[in-house]
Amino acid sequence: MSEKVERNQILIIAAHPDDEILGAGATMAKHAASGDDVYVLIVAQGATSRYSSDSNLNEAEDYVSNLKACAQAAAKALGTNSPNFLGFPDNKLDTVALLDIVQKIEEFINTIRPKIIYTHHGGDLNIDHQIVHRAVLTATRPIPNAFVKSIYTFETVSSTEWSSPQQQQVFIPTRFVNVTQMFEKKLQALAEYKSEMREFPHARSVEAVEALARVRGAASGSAMAEAFAVIRELVD
Ligand SMILES: [Zn+2]
Repeated sequence: MSEKVERNQILIIAAHPDDEILGAGATMAKHAASGDDVYVLIVAQGATSRYSSDSNLNEAEDYVSNLKACAQAAAKALGTNSPNFLGFPDNKLDTVALLDIVQKIEEFINTIRPKIIYTHHGGDLNIDHQIVHRAVLTATRPIPNAFVKSIYTFETVSSTEWSSPQQQQVFIPTRFVNVTQMFEKKLQALAEYKSEMREFPHARSVEAVEALARVRGAASGSAMAEAFAVIRELVD
């Protein structure tokens, strides 16, 4: 008798290239290893806000295409599908009508029909992370028979813990994924994003990412974990 294996559609919606790996890289690898179909949607270009004048426009364009290549290589390292890009401007999603972002996300969700969505914590310091959080919640309003059953938010080092320590901003983990066997893959994926990583003690360093995984692991009885906050979970 063959065992019935459920293959789920999983979607990670991130503001910038590298957020998907920082937030949920090992969990993505775990889903992929268990046979799930894992998709990534990246909303903003990433990094172009570092190139503010017109004179280095070409440099900015090169950087964007390099980041896309990094995202593709990282997805390959995790065994997930090649990422999709909406290409909204970096670090200024607040200059775009929220409805435009919501509609693009909705279109993608309707194509993929994911059961589980992972996205940003709404209290992050980064404005794009805040807006993506809000846009995802709007795009996944819980109408009857919606195919999205669960929404989880992830923490992104160098944004989640950099926010102001007010109660409504603080990330409170309520779901822990044991990623002890998958953490190496997260590091392999992060290695593809060399330009975005920094030296320790910067928050966006390999050492800090590993330390967080150990803290989340210890908080949940596993060696290494990625932590999420449950926004909504429907058990049919
Ligand atoms: Zn980001």
